[in-house]
Amino acid sequence: MKCSEFKKLIFDYMENELDFKTKKDVESHVLTCENCLKDLRESAKSVELFRQLKEITVPAELDKKIKALFDSLFHG
Ligand SMILES: [Zn+2]
Repeated sequence: MKCSEFKKLIFDYMENELDFKTKKDVESHVLTCENCLKDLRESAKSVELFRQLKEITVPAELDKKIKALFDSLFHG
C-alpha cells in the first residue's frame, strides 16, 4: 500500500468501515511507515476530541428538551 492510499483510508479505518483484507493492509502499512503511523495517531486524537466535544455540548441541551417533553406528556 502507498502512503497516498493509506491517507484515503485512514478515517474509514478508524470508523471500522473497512473489509478485513483492507484493514490488514492498513495495519501492515503503519507498521512499516512511521509517517503514516504518526498520521493515524494524530487523526485518532482529533476524532476522539470531536467525539468528546459532541458529548459535552449536545446532550445537556437535548436532556432539557427530553425532560420538557416528558413533563408535558405525563404531567401536562
Ligand atoms: Zn506511509
